[in-house]
Amino acid sequence: MFFIPILDRTTNQLGTLAQNKLEIILRGYERKSYPNSDLLGTHLPVNLLAYNFCKTQRDVYLYITGEVLPESWDRYQGRVVHYFYEIIYNKIREIITTSSIDKINIFDSLLTERDSLKQNAIKKYSGVYNKVKGMYGTGDLKKKNDDLAENLDKIFRFEVSLCSSLVNFEISRLYNQTGGDSLLQKAAALHVGQQFAASPLGFSDPVSPDFIYKQAVGDVKTGEWQEYYQHTIAAYALAVENHLREDVNCGVILHVNLDQSRKVPICEKTEFINIDDTIRRKFLIIRDQKLYIAKYQNDPGLPEDDSGCVGCNHHEKCWGV
Ligand code: SF4
Repeated sequence: MFFIPILDRTTNQLGTLAQNKLEIILRGYERKSYPNSDLLGTHLPVNLLAYNFCKTQRDVYLYITGEVLPESWDRYQGRVVHYFYEIIYNKIREIITTSSIDKINIFDSLLTERDSLKQNAIKKYSGVYNKVKGMYGTGDLKKKNDDLAENLDKIFRFEVSLCSSLVNFEISRLYNQTGGDSLLQKAAALHVGQQFAASPLGFSDPVSPDFIYKQAVGDVKTGEWQEYYQHTIAAYALAVENHLREDVNCGVILHVNLDQSRKVPICEKTEFINIDDTIRRKFLIIRDQKLYIAKYQNDPGLPEDDSGCVGCNHHEKCWGV
């Protein structure tokens, strides 16, 4: 919700970036965005299509031949954090849409629920936790759990205070308003968990952006910053366009760095981007490479060395160590 201030006060539309008229050819509803005809009917999950870490795309081959990606603490924590954002945004939306303007107090309402919301996020992935906890000794595991709890607290304080201030700002400008409609239009046009069907693009259905704020699609990222994060935003835009036949021009990569030495999440690399043809084309080229591997099940093999494989959970499978 950090991008609310760019709303144009007259039109209530996203400001600066959205006002730039983008000449975009590769829309999700255009056939030129579809895969080559021989790849039609082959589908992969958007997260796999957008992930461009592996130099040879061998991760796709491993996926379609049933190789399960081993779990890790980082993957576990990333999932919990993602879901925690979803819970917080849904709660904020619920408060705004069910309360009258004179009763809305996001900060106080959410503060009383903080611990149960945290527990909900942690419980949702208890199955993954049970798989990874055995990798650590008692002391290390306790430290990791404590750090995760602290990280959720940081995110909660940061998001709730920010959202509360921004919604209060909207309320402060609606003195004569007694109903919720106008406020809803301005402050609650935030959607989480929406699902879109985009199988003509080679995407497994459904595609669900982490959040949508007005015309912008959003993705929460917790790992180390990667250039290919833009692919996910491009994929979300294409999917929404394919499903709704409406243009999506911009997106947000909400990059959350949970540095234990800081009291607030570091969002230094968070980006608000125009989803232009350059970004779309980069993603679509990778998509076609991956769909090709999925369709013909050819093992693309290993890169020359494993220098680009550091951090990949398939390392042991590929390199034997
Ligand atoms: S270990 Fe390397 S080659 Fe294997 S899937 Fe991961 S990045 Fe690709």
